[in-house]
Amino acid sequence: MGSRKRLHRRASHDVALDAMSRSVLLIEDNEQNRYLLTFLLESCGYQVSAAHDGPRGIEAARALSPSIILLDIQLPTMDGYAVARSLRQNEALRTIPIVAVTSYAMPGDRETALEAGCTDYIEKPIDPDTFVQQLEAILERHGGQP
Ligand code: MN
Repeated sequence: MGSRKRLHRRASHDVALDAMSRSVLLIEDNEQNRYLLTFLLESCGYQVSAAHDGPRGIEAARALSPSIILLDIQLPTMDGYAVARSLRQNEALRTIPIVAVTSYAMPGDRETALEAGCTDYIEKPIDPDTFVQQLEAILERHGGQP
């Protein structure tokens, strides 16, 4: 029983190590947020691609098949909920973890984001000191699955 537990701990540790080489697609319309998130993620070894709006984000997700999608909720023309629903309808994209970046001021966002198919959420404004840790904790919690 003890060794089984150890094995499990080891496996979840590997998930975190694995995350270091993963690709992230960032769907975010705000340039400063894109810049900050890209900087933080690249500093931790992630490969980052960015899209400025929902339709382009969906296109990029199909083309790149990223390991993680970071999704802003407040986007022009097509909001993050609609983007998440659309991504989840695509068979190939169904299992990619989608982490919504939701406004702290809008608590209803979180439930709606999860209902729309997001794996989890991180609150805005993001904390640059802990953002990547928060993301990796989510990935570990979900074992890389949505
Ligand atoms: Mn936005």
